[in-house]
Amino acid sequence: MISEEEARKKILETIRPLSSRRWSLSEALGSFAAEDYFAGLPLPAFDNSAMDGYAVVASFCKKGQRLQVTGEQPAGRDKQLRIAPGEAIRIFTGAPIPAGADAIVMQEDVTRDGDAIVINTDVKAGEFIRERGCDLAEGQRILAKGERLRAGTIALLASQGIADVAVGAEVNAAIISTGDELVKPGEKLDQGQIYESNSALLRALLQRCGAAVNLVEHCRDERASLIEGIKRGMRNHVLIISGGVSVGEHDLVKDALRELGVQIDIWRVAIKPGKPFLFGNIGECAVFGLPGNPVSAFVTSLQFVRPAILKMMGATNLDLPQLPAKLAVDLTNEGDRAHYIRGKLEHGKFSPVGRQESHALFGLSQSNALLRLDLGQSLKADQIVDVQIWE
Ligand code: AMP
Ligand code: MG
Repeated sequence: MISEEEARKKILETIRPLSSRRWSLSEALGSFAAEDYFAGLPLPAFDNSAMDGYAVVASFCKKGQRLQVTGEQPAGRDKQLRIAPGEAIRIFTGAPIPAGADAIVMQEDVTRDGDAIVINTDVKAGEFIRERGCDLAEGQRILAKGERLRAGTIALLASQGIADVAVGAEVNAAIISTGDELVKPGEKLDQGQIYESNSALLRALLQRCGAAVNLVEHCRDERASLIEGIKRGMRNHVLIISGGVSVGEHDLVKDALRELGVQIDIWRVAIKPGKPFLFGNIGECAVFGLPGNPVSAFVTSLQFVRPAILKMMGATNLDLPQLPAKLAVDLTNEGDRAHYIRGKLEHGKFSPVGRQESHALFGLSQSNALLRLDLGQSLKADQIVDVQIWE
């Protein structure tokens, strides 16, 4: 049995980012930049008006001043207008500032009188002018390699005139659930059987990472069934098998993988829940064997499968987001494995929820965060701890 840290290190040493692709900006949400991007244009690209109003010379504008309106500058076409003190130009939001003007008076602050206006406020130089480059300088980095494209990033790239981006390739994943006791939801349950829930869980977690789930299958605890399922699953970048990796007579996954030539790098990790975890690879496919107990499958998927998929996709940050929280209760880990406590982070407070056992799915369904208790670690109520946010 190896430590959680060793297991993660070994997995991430084995996993390589997939080759990148050029992808339309409209499809790129959630992918990771394959290169750095820099601003080719400053933002704003030219001095422009922040208001509908009048361009003026500030030093000539005291409250009550009357100005002659000599032209109109709409957004979209620079009419190359110019003003002198005593004049104003009608202007609209986003329109370029006429030469000579150094402030905008908003239209709510003037009284229009034919071809003239009377200003009802004092005016300061620079007011309501959005200066070229004040938001973003030309050459400034706008997106780092390995950073996730979020809605705001996509808008920024679009504002630079960029229509497609170099991003990490999509990861194809296969999920195989194993177990003679499992019945597909929607079908009839006999005595002793249970509904199969790990595929639904793992599919959701994989989709959340941005992977494409191409295959979801169930195999019986039978050599032939497993071999056939694994062969199909191996055609993907990632194959996740749940159940059948423990030490019982019906745990046949390890032998089936060996028979197919999968190199098994890890079996059994000092993590609770989740000890009978397996990692191996064959060709371009990374193979994860997760324990069948739903909470174990959940924890090992988040701690081992998620970072591997993110690395394949070209991400730099492979960690779950963390937040500080005040612990609601005393907690001690007396076991010999790192323990992930499922809990709820609410208003800055972390409280364990439900039974902390590997089959206890209800507690998991109520949780949004995980607290990792190291071997021998003791924590006191009201202590501030870092928790991992997974929801
Ligand atoms: P195993 O790892 O195959 O020994 O399974 C451990 C426990 O998890 C058993 O109680 C199984 O019934 C349960 N289990 C295994 N696979 C699933 C699944 N896909 N959905 C729900 N429970 C499962
Ligand atoms: Mg089983």
